[in-house]
Amino acid sequence: MTEPGPAPAPPLAGGLHAARSLRPLLDTVLTALHTGAAERNAPLPAGGPATVTARVRTALGDVLPTHGTGDHEALATLVHTLAAGAADPADPLCAAHLHCPPLAVAAAADLAVSALNPSLDSWDQAPAASAIEALLTRALAAEFYDGPGADALLTTGGTESNQLALLLARERHGPRLHVLHGANAHHSVPRAAWLLGLPPATALPTPTGTLDPATLDAALADAPGPALVTATAGTTDAGLIDPLDALADVCERHRAELHVDAAYGGALAFSPRHRGKLTGLHRARSITLDLHKLGWQPVAAGLLAVPDTALLAPLAHQADYLNAADDTEAGLPDLLGRSLRTTRRPDAFKIAATLRSLGRDGLARLIDHTCAAAHRLAEILDAHPGFELHAHPTITTVLFRPTPTDDDRLAALRRTLLHDGTAVLGRATTADGRLWLKATLLNPHTTTRDLDTLVALLEGSSHR
Ligand SMILES: *Cc1c(COP(=O)(O)O)cnc(C)c1O
Repeated sequence: MTEPGPAPAPPLAGGLHAARSLRPLLDTVLTALHTGAAERNAPLPAGGPATVTARVRTALGDVLPTHGTGDHEALATLVHTLAAGAADPADPLCAAHLHCPPLAVAAAADLAVSALNPSLDSWDQAPAASAIEALLTRALAAEFYDGPGADALLTTGGTESNQLALLLARERHGPRLHVLHGANAHHSVPRAAWLLGLPPATALPTPTGTLDPATLDAALADAPGPALVTATAGTTDAGLIDPLDALADVCERHRAELHVDAAYGGALAFSPRHRGKLTGLHRARSITLDLHKLGWQPVAAGLLAVPDTALLAPLAHQADYLNAADDTEAGLPDLLGRSLRTTRRPDAFKIAATLRSLGRDGLARLIDHTCAAAHRLAEILDAHPGFELHAHPTITTVLFRPTPTDDDRLAALRRTLLHDGTAVLGRATTADGRLWLKATLLNPHTTTRDLDTLVALLEGSSHR
């Protein structure tokens, strides 16, 4: 009998020798991040999808080669390729979507999570991570709700949070629950109604960009049976906030429940200067919040906050191998009711590290600076004879168009910028049917000079 040969097992990320194995690999990763970004030298790689795909294909060659190239070569090649071909939200001219540049502290914290790989489906896979999550979710929920029962679930983002909000409402009111939302709502709201087998959600017209309480009042007067209203704090197209307090009044009058999708705008609660825009938010039965937007976290960092833990009871679930009744009775925390997922990354960890690093005042400064940059951009465009500004921003979204132009030329201009890799801007169609360019500012380092550069670039491109 011969012993199997020495297996050349690559080093692990955890354990006592983690630093010795990870540090040199991280050095390779950081170098390749730099060389890739330097090669791109722009917010987006030039050349469009065909060019980027061809470059990736050439760099990677065989995705599963017969013989491996080893850790350093694999990381150097792939990280360089990834960075060279990235849409980098750390570039101030990358401002299309609610796609934030993550803070270094959050990315570094996430590395620790990757190394240790805690999984939040049972305490014995995540002792400290689960305790951190429990503290963080309670603390964040308390930012939105006053009572001692306030609680929150970590999710993969606004889409999952909205799904959970509708699911919890369905469990309270049954399958006839009628979901109403503004036409300005995120697409995930009607989709969640579809997923959950609810009657098709009703989209109420929002010609001004926000949901008018009188419109909701009339719709609820006609609504048969139990209703859930979804309002939005931070619309995807224009960053507008529905009149939450007035909508909560209407809901109360009709005994309808209110859910607020504050995926984007909810973070304003951390800024003494801006939190007044969220008046009435605490009256919602549930609140969606994404810290991978105005929270500067790597994806994913979603939350669903509720005023009382008891509202989460429908998610309670048992699987003997994860939360046997006698284990729970003996004091092992039961985590299965904290998500519909089983294996689950501790996304709370990077958030906790970020909050500790920044503190309340540091977080507020980031939010205030980013909102101010959006205001500044709007002012520059408003004062410029070559542009039409749609409106001054409520949060950090600025809609505008060069003048004169038409919708086709505007859409083509956006694609030209993407193709050249010079700027990443979004697009939005307002209720009147007009198309606009959309700048969603989420970079807390953006300066007035960056904004001037963007405007000069657009000026040049729109006259080409
Ligand atoms: C971003 C966003 C969502 C979706 O969130 P994901 O994190 O992408 O799942 C939902 N609603 C609003 C208002 C959003 O801004």
